Order: sequence, then structure tokens, then C-alpha cells
Amino acid sequence: KILVTPRSFGKTSNVPFEILKKHNYEVIRNQSGRQYTEEELLNIVPDIDGIIVGLDPISEKVLKTGKKLKVVSKYGVGLDNIDLVAAEKLGIKITYTPGANNESVADLAFSLMLSLSRNVKRLDEIVRTNRWEKVIGSEVYGKVIGIIGTGAIGKGVAKRATGFDMEILAYDIYPDWDFANKIGMKYVDKNTLLERADFISIHVPLTDEMYHFIDKKELDIMKDTAILINTSRGGIINEEALYWALKDKKIAGAGLDVFETEPPINNKLLKLDNILLSPHCGASTIDATNRMSIMAVEGLVSILEG
Ligand code: NAD
Repeated sequence: KILVTPRSFGKTSNVPFEILKKHNYEVIRNQSGRQYTEEELLNIVPDIDGIIVGLDPISEKVLKTGKKLKVVSKYGVGLDNIDLVAAEKLGIKITYTPGANNESVADLAFSLMLSLSRNVKRLDEIVRTNRWEKVIGSEVYGKVIGIIGTGAIGKGVAKRATGFDMEILAYDIYPDWDFANKIGMKYVDKNTLLERADFISIHVPLTDEMYHFIDKKELDIMKDTAILINTSRGGIINEEALYWALKDKKIAGAGLDVFETEPPINNKLLKLDNILLSPHCGASTIDATNRMSIMAVEGLVSILEG
């Protein structure tokens, strides 16, 4: 019995379901239209052999309750919703889909940057309300971008930035010097990046170390014209500090695909004008959905079938 939680799994192609059918797996889908809670998972997992999971909480309790559970296959790359230590202790294997969605997330990070710079949301609203006003934006071309985390997605953003003739600054605990030399990216310390960048884009995982990596102190260092983009994980930015930085115009704008609590119901960030929001959909493209669905199934099958 395989539990499949991501709503977009197999949405753009039948191939992933055909693979599951070929192995005679019984497939159980999440029909709730939202992520499962821990309590719901606790009721479902006792007779499940494998899970293909999105962002639902795969806690120690869930893993322990899944007595038959052999594999959790992450549909994506962010593993912060899975208790990896508990999984290892229990002998439950984890697979994920590296490289399947990085270009899609990099596209979204760049589109948030461009849309904020040119106030695209406002321009659209002006025309729809029968007005004909010009809004002065600013260029992305030739500016300084600071990329925090130069893994698969950060590199994708850097590659796009070369096409815009941007000066590319980067921060990462494991610098990829070859890549940096090849595209002309410069690794700098955190404060230099925050001080100099016109655009800051976050692409690190949410670990204990990265929790509130961007807080009041960091926002204070940024230029008042800076635009901050987060398509990584909500907890990396302290949202309370971001709210005040945007409200007091300490920075010019922010583009967020991710939030500390998702969905961000009653989040006061939603009341601000200088922010552009999307519902954690960095990977939501036909291209990434196909790749993630197939890789997640293949990872699961290879473990279950030995
Ligand atoms: P990756 O593992 O390829 O790269 C992460 C980079 O962060 C690595 O280079 C690593 O060295 C660096 N890093 C880790 N800890 C650090 C620290 N303490 N200080 C500085 N650098 C550190 O991951 P990726 O594929 O580029 O994805 C990045 C993140 O994007 C994921 O962890 C996930 O949370 C998020 N993501 C979001 C979406 C979305 O839909 N919005 C989709 C996919 C991934």
C-alpha cells in the first residue's frame, strides 16, 4: 500500500501511476485538498508500506506508527518536514528528487525579482481599472545580486543573472569555486552580501543553523532599495522583522513563495503593498511535476523491490 500525498503528483502525465500499477501497489491519495496534519497521518500510516510525500509532517511519531513503513520518497528536495534521525533509527529509507525542480524554482525567483522591480501587479491593476498611469520601476539589468546558498537552485539563479549582466555575489558554507570562476560569481561574507546587493535571493535549506538567518540585524544592513526574495523555506526569514522592515521602508520590497506557517492565514505581511506573494509553488511547472513524479516513484520502487 502506497500513500501519495502531493496533489500535483502525476497530474501532468500518467506514467507515474502506470509504474505503480505495474508493481501491483494499492495507491491511497490525499483527497483532502490540503496537507495532512500529523493526527491524520497517524490514522493512515499503520498499514502503509511506502509514502510519496510533499510537505506533510513525517514526524518521529508518524514513522514509529507506520509499522510496515519501509520508504519515504520525498516529492521535492526540502527534507525539513521529515524526521531524518528517527527514520535512520527505525531503518526507514528516504529518497528524494534532486535536480527535478531546480530550474522551475530559479525561474520563479527571477520572475519575483522582475515583477517587483517593474511593479507588474500594480500595472495590471491600473489597466484593469480603466486607468492609464505610468509607474516608475527600476531595472534588474546590470544590478548586484546576492545569492544565499549556491546549490542547484542558487546556481540556476546565478546562471540567469549572467544573462542580465549582473554582478553576482554569493554566500555558502560549501563554496563551489569551479562554478563561481566559470560564470564570474564572487563568494563574499554574509555582511558584504547584505550590504552590497540590490537583490537578495535565498536558496539554503531550513536547518537549525538557518532558522531566522535573516533577522532585524540583517535587514538593517541591507540597502533601502534592496529587494529580498525567498523561495526556500519560511523559517529562514523572521517574518515579524521583515514586516517592520517593509512597513518602515527599510528595504524596498520582498517576494515570498514560502512562509513560516503555510498557508499564511491572518499573516500581517499580506497587508503590505511592497510585497509579492505566491503559494509555495516554485516547483509547480509541467516540467518539474513530470520529473518529480517519475523520480519519486522510481526511488520508492527501487527500495521496495530491492
Ligand atoms: P541544495 O542542497 O542543492 O543547495 C543548498 C545549498 O545551501 C548548498 O550549496 C549548501 O552548501 C548551502 N547551505 C546549507 N547550509 C548552509 C548554511 N548553514 N550556510 C550557508 N549555506 C548553507 O538545495 P537546492 O535544490 O538548491 O534547494 C534549496 C532549498 O530550496 C531547499 O532546501 C528547499 O527548502 C527549497 N525549495 C523550495 C521549493 C519551492 O517550491 N519553493 C522547491 C524546491 C526547493
